[in-house]
Amino acid sequence: MHHADVMMNEANNGRFYCVYRVSLWAHAVNCLDRHVHTCPERVALIWERDEPGSEFKVTYRQLLEMTCRLGNLLRRHGVKRGDCVTIYMPSCPLAVASMLACARIGAAHNVVFAGFSAEALAERIRDAQSSTVITVNQGVRGGKLTELKKTVDTAVQSCPTVQQVFVAMRTENPVAMTAKDVAMEEVREQKENQTLIKILMPTAEDRKLYFNKRKQLSLFGCGFITMLWLLHVISDNAQEMQKEDVVCEPAAMDSEDVLFLLYTSGSTGKPKGLVHTQAGYLLYAALTHRYVFSYHDGDVFGCVADIGWITGHSYSVYGPLANGGTSVLFESTPIYPDPGRYWEMVQRLKINQFYGAPTAIRLLLKYGNQWVHKYDRSTLKTLGSVGEPINTEAWEWYHTVVGDGRCPVVDTWWQTETGGICITPRPSNPDAEIVPGMAMRPFFGIKPALMDTEGEVLTSNHTSGALCIAQPWPGMARTIHNNHQRFIETYCQPYPGYFFTGDGAYRSKEGYYQITGRLDDVINVSGHRIGTAEIEDVVNQCSQVAESAVIGYSHNIKGEGVYAFVVLKKGMDVEEMDLSRQLNDLVSKKIAKYACPDCIQVNSRLPKTRSGKIMRRVLRKVVEQDLNGLGDLSTLDDPAAVQEIIEVIVNII
Ligand code: ATP
Ligand code: MG
Repeated sequence: MHHADVMMNEANNGRFYCVYRVSLWAHAVNCLDRHVHTCPERVALIWERDEPGSEFKVTYRQLLEMTCRLGNLLRRHGVKRGDCVTIYMPSCPLAVASMLACARIGAAHNVVFAGFSAEALAERIRDAQSSTVITVNQGVRGGKLTELKKTVDTAVQSCPTVQQVFVAMRTENPVAMTAKDVAMEEVREQKENQTLIKILMPTAEDRKLYFNKRKQLSLFGCGFITMLWLLHVISDNAQEMQKEDVVCEPAAMDSEDVLFLLYTSGSTGKPKGLVHTQAGYLLYAALTHRYVFSYHDGDVFGCVADIGWITGHSYSVYGPLANGGTSVLFESTPIYPDPGRYWEMVQRLKINQFYGAPTAIRLLLKYGNQWVHKYDRSTLKTLGSVGEPINTEAWEWYHTVVGDGRCPVVDTWWQTETGGICITPRPSNPDAEIVPGMAMRPFFGIKPALMDTEGEVLTSNHTSGALCIAQPWPGMARTIHNNHQRFIETYCQPYPGYFFTGDGAYRSKEGYYQITGRLDDVINVSGHRIGTAEIEDVVNQCSQVAESAVIGYSHNIKGEGVYAFVVLKKGMDVEEMDLSRQLNDLVSKKIAKYACPDCIQVNSRLPKTRSGKIMRRVLRKVVEQDLNGLGDLSTLDDPAAVQEIIEVIVNII
């Protein structure tokens, strides 16, 4: 610990956060070297490639070597501490090594989900002012190839800051290279075939060299920090080592230095580049990973989120690796080659904790239980959900069908802004009750507060309000890149002295929390305020309905009316009148008559973000017939879904 000082947040009159600043080794050390020292052959990553059965394992030693090579490569090409590197790659070990290589040399990474269009990528590169991009020639997902390198080529045309693009080979298909491109194969000394595996896998020679060095060091019986210092001194003098690139001196960082920026999913508007810092983020990711999922040494952790989202950052990369765990990187889709993919993978890789999104659970539920029952899921211990409120039907299915009623389901509430899980059940305490569909209790150090419409704190239970957090916690984002004012305005000013999440929550009589959805999605029907998620939850309980999106629209009498977009389960065909009757019965029984849908529209799909969240703001605009006001659609997954809805609405009206 070199120095400590206290940081205050100016927007909160010094009340907000207070962080002890320390110097620490870059996170590649905390996530890799520490474990290489004690268990070099432990598997760090299992790359679950698109084709089932073609998984690829990377040990901690291999991942460290890969990271060091990349770190050296970046340094040799002028990437410095404080720079920002954009990573446009699918989930794969090289992407993780790229993140850690940036961390190792003190550069910030900016991972952009590899499904984004050239325009969305360019916007994020420009905002981040990256001069370096790392990508792969092609992506492989759901049996299809995507032209990632070509997308980068188009994007960088409108990004004057970009000076170099590193290109790795995910497939054997060559790509046209431009003057800015650097083939990643240069990482190796071009001794062997230039394939991705060759980049990923060190040769026997590399290994010998590394272990000789380690033996040398252990002779001194030195501690961890001393070992790094020695590696640094020795590598300075050992030309051979430098040439082989297996050692890369880690930067010493301040606890409040930037670790990465990450743009939010964009469900509500223009994406924000949230900035996370070194010490607090890693601590929080590691703690939550261990305690929320009850992760134990030797477990295989299966988070299926893409590394392009915060879930992938915290629970595929930083959390599991900081804990010396084995993390699965999922390259495929839940229905490739069939809807049994997740569970076949659970059986084959012996996954102990599975962490996924409600949108995928709802999708799989549509296909029926046989796809789950086919596979052995006895290794599973904890099931996690994140991203949206999980409706009761999906929760029950996850619990009883996937988890055989045996595995606790943790519905984890958090955001890109919070860095890690904030409200969640904690199965490591076996006596703690879990109520279906509830996020339950705050994690250690999190103090939730509910606010009423006047901005006053609600102190009683059995009440709903705007969800805020009353004190700082280690994993919180520190700012929005290049726009601190927007950070203050969005999160700190709405309820001075509190962090405002933008979500609504209900606190039960027992003091448990249930997330009711985004506050933007709260509607006021005949004077009753209700979260649309609550209505969706009931609509989804109808046996014919796979999923739904409810929005409010302007209504002469009620103020706002309830408009329900509904997707039916596979093979279901139902008369409009019949569906309307069923939904009205259900909603009036489970909520109240006022919440019954005034309009029901059946669609084959809903507009979603690339991370699988329903974009209700787009639906609102379509219903208002404000097609010019649809806003930023760069994060929209399938524009055809919006088109379909527009066409149906035009026919109705
Ligand atoms: P943007 O902020 O750009 O609109 P986003 O909010 O979708 O995008 P994320 O940070 O990925 O981006 O998502 C966090 C949000 O997802 C939360 O604020 C909440 O609305 C929702 N969410 C996440 N987990 C849960 C959960 N377990 N239950 C209910 N909602 C959740
Ligand atoms: Mg958000």
